[in-house]
Amino acid sequence: MNNLLLYWGGYCMPTSLQPVRGMRDLIGEEAQIFTTILGKARQTAECYGFCEVVVPHVESFELLSAKSGEEIRQRMFIFKDLGERQVALRPEFTASIARLVTTVLRNEPKPLRLFSSGTVYRYDEPQKGRYREFWQSNFELMGSSRPEADAEIVLLTNALMASLGLEGYVFKIGHIGVIRGILGQDGVDEKTQNAVLQKMDKKDYDAALELVDSEKSRSMLEGLITLKGNNWREIVNQMQIYVANYPIAKLAVENLGDILGLIAESGDLRVEVEPAFARGLEYYTGMIFEIYVPQLDIALGGGGRYDRLIEVFGGDATPAVGCAHGIDRVAIALQTQKAIGGKKVTKKVAVIPITEALKPQALRIAQQLRLAGVAVEFEVMGRKMVKALEYADKRKSDYAVIVGERELKDGTVMLKDLSSRQQNIIAIEKLAETITG
Ligand code: AMP
Repeated sequence: MNNLLLYWGGYCMPTSLQPVRGMRDLIGEEAQIFTTILGKARQTAECYGFCEVVVPHVESFELLSAKSGEEIRQRMFIFKDLGERQVALRPEFTASIARLVTTVLRNEPKPLRLFSSGTVYRYDEPQKGRYREFWQSNFELMGSSRPEADAEIVLLTNALMASLGLEGYVFKIGHIGVIRGILGQDGVDEKTQNAVLQKMDKKDYDAALELVDSEKSRSMLEGLITLKGNNWREIVNQMQIYVANYPIAKLAVENLGDILGLIAESGDLRVEVEPAFARGLEYYTGMIFEIYVPQLDIALGGGGRYDRLIEVFGGDATPAVGCAHGIDRVAIALQTQKAIGGKKVTKKVAVIPITEALKPQALRIAQQLRLAGVAVEFEVMGRKMVKALEYADKRKSDYAVIVGERELKDGTVMLKDLSSRQQNIIAIEKLAETITG
C-alpha cells in the first residue's frame, strides 16, 4: 500500500493537502491579475503581428534536451509515460516552437512571428518569485538576422510592460557574441565558454575567470566586467576600443550598437548596457536582454538572439530572436507598485430578493446588470437580509441591490452603498448607470 494514502472503504484519502513544492494555487484577485497580464500579452502579440500557437505541456525528453543547455536539462521534470517513453514537462516554449518551425511550419513564408503562453516547469529552489511551475508569455521571431528584428522583440516587451502600467523598469542589454568572440579567438573551447557564461550569469566573476586559461582573454573579460552604464553610445564606443583586435567580437559590438541605435530612436526605453551580462540558456548567439524594476532584484523577463537552434533541430538555417516574460514576477511587480493590484476592474454588487416570491424578478435584474458589465453575486442561500448583507460586506461588494415588493411595483429597487451605508430608491432602468457611475 502506498504509505502516502489512507485507504477507507475503497477510497483513499491523501495525508497532505498541500500543493506540490514549488507549485501554487492562484485564488481570486491573484488569478485575475494573471488573466489580465496574459490578456495584455495576447493583445501585444496581435498588435505586433504574432500568430498564437498552443503547444503541449509534455514533449519528448530527447527534443527538450537537444535544445536546452545543461543548466535547464538538470532541472527538468522527467518521467516515463505508460508506454515507456521518456518525456518531460516543458521547461520553456522555445523547443516546442522550434519543433513546429522545422516541421509543419517549415514552408511558411519568413519571418515567422509566433506567440505562446502558459505554464512551464523547472526544478528550481523555490523562493519569492521563483517557482517550479510558473507562467510565461513567449514571443519568437524567426527568419531574420537583422537588428530590426532584435529591436522589435525589445520594443514589444516595452509595449507590454507599459500597457500594464509598470513604472521605472529598465532593460539590461548585452551581446553574447562579444564574450564568445573573445574566448573563441583565444582558443577557449565551446564547453568551457558555456561554463564561463554560466558563472558570469550568476555574477560569480572570480569563478568565471578561473576557468579561462588564456591570460589575454582573462584581462579582456576583467575589463568588460567593469564596463556598464545607461549612456549606450559611450559604452559601445568603449567596447569597440576593447575588442579592436578581435574581429568576431568587433562585429558583435557593431551589431549591438545597431540594435541599441534602433531602440533609442524608436522608443522611450530605459536601457542599461552591460557587456559582461550573460544569460543561463546556452543557445544564445547575439543580443541578450532582461527587464528589471527597481523594487525587485529578479528579472521580469528576458530573451535574445539564437541563430543556430533551428539547425540543431534539423531545419534550414533560420536566424531567430525571442523572449519570454515571467508572468508570476510581473504580477509581483504590479502588486508591489500597486499598478493593478487592488484595482477592481468592475463594480461588484449583491442582488438580494426580500422574499422567495421575488426571486424571478431579482434574477432578471441581476441578468440586466451583468449585461451592463456589472459583476453580480446573486443571493443563492435564501438568507434573511441582515445575513445576506453581512456576506456582501465580507465579499467586499460595492453595493447591495435589495429587491422588495413595494419598490418593484413602482419599477424601482433599493440600492445600498456598502461603503457609505447610504441607501436610495432607484428606477430599475437607471440602476446599471447609477452603479457604474
Ligand atoms: P528564461 O526562460 O530562463 O529566459 O526566463 C524568462 C523569464 O521567466 C525570466 O526572466 C523570469 O521572469 C521567468 N522565470 C524564470 N524562471 C522562473 C522561476 N523558477 N519562477 C518564476 N519565474 C521564472
